[in-house]
Amino acid sequence: MTLDQRWSQAMRILITNDDGIHAGGLRALARAASSLGEVKVCAPDRERSACGHSMTMREPLRVRAAEGWDVPAYEVNGVPTDCVNVGLTELWPEGCDLILSGINSGPNLGFDITYSGTAAGAMEGTINGIKSIAISMAIFVSDAPPHFETGEEWLNQNWQMLLSLPLDHLTFLNINIPAIASPEIQGHAFVGMGERVYKDRVERREDPWGRPYWWQGGVVVMDPSDEGADVWAVSRGRVAITPVSLDWTNRKLLEAYRLRD
Ligand code: MN
Repeated sequence: MTLDQRWSQAMRILITNDDGIHAGGLRALARAASSLGEVKVCAPDRERSACGHSMTMREPLRVRAAEGWDVPAYEVNGVPTDCVNVGLTELWPEGCDLILSGINSGPNLGFDITYSGTAAGAMEGTINGIKSIAISMAIFVSDAPPHFETGEEWLNQNWQMLLSLPLDHLTFLNINIPAIASPEIQGHAFVGMGERVYKDRVERREDPWGRPYWWQGGVVVMDPSDEGADVWAVSRGRVAITPVSLDWTNRKLLEAYRLRD
C-alpha cells in the first residue's frame, strides 16, 4: 500500500482559516486536501486576519452550517482558535489526524506569525496534539493576485513530502508559497523565521469632523538577504517551510540564569 492510499483511507482533516468562510483560499485548501482523506471545514463567518491566537470568551459562539459546500462545513462568529475548538467538538468529536489553516491571502513570514490568525489555527491544533500546518500565499505587491491555484497545485504535488516530515511535540509547520504562477516556483527550502518589520506603522489621519484617528498597517521592511530565513526563500521564488515551536523559552538564557544561582 502506498502512503497515498493509506492517507486516503485514514486521514481525518479539519480545515480553518482567518480570511473567513467565503475566502477563495479556503476552497483551494479544501480541494487540495480532499485527496488525503475526509475533509471537514470550520471557519470564521467573516475575515478575522491579524487576530493572532485570541479566543472568544465573553460572548457565545454561534455556529451555522455554511452554504455551498459539498463537505461538512460550519461558520462561526469567532476567530480561528474558536473554530478549531468548535470543529474538534462538533465535527470530529473522536479527534482528527490533521489540521490545515489557510490558504491565507498574504504572507505570514517572520514576526507575522505572532499576529497571524492563520498561524493561530495551526497553533490551536498543535496544542490539541494534532499535526497542524499553516499555509499562506506570499503576496508582495498590494492588489496583486493571490495565486491560490499555485498553492493548490504545489500542495497536491508535495503532500507526501510534507506529511513525511517528522514533527516534534508542540511544533507546527508554517508554509509560505510565493504568489506567482506555478511554473515560476523554484522548489522549496527549509528555513527559519526571518525578521519582518513594519515601517511607519501607525498613520495619523483626521475624520470629517477634525478628530484624529490612527490607522495601522504600514510598509513592510524585509531583509531578503538574510540567507536561510523564510523571507529570503520566498523572495527567490521558493516555498518556505518552517517548523515553529510553541515553546518560546530561550533555553540558552535559561541555562545561563540557572548558573547564576
Ligand atoms: Mn488572513
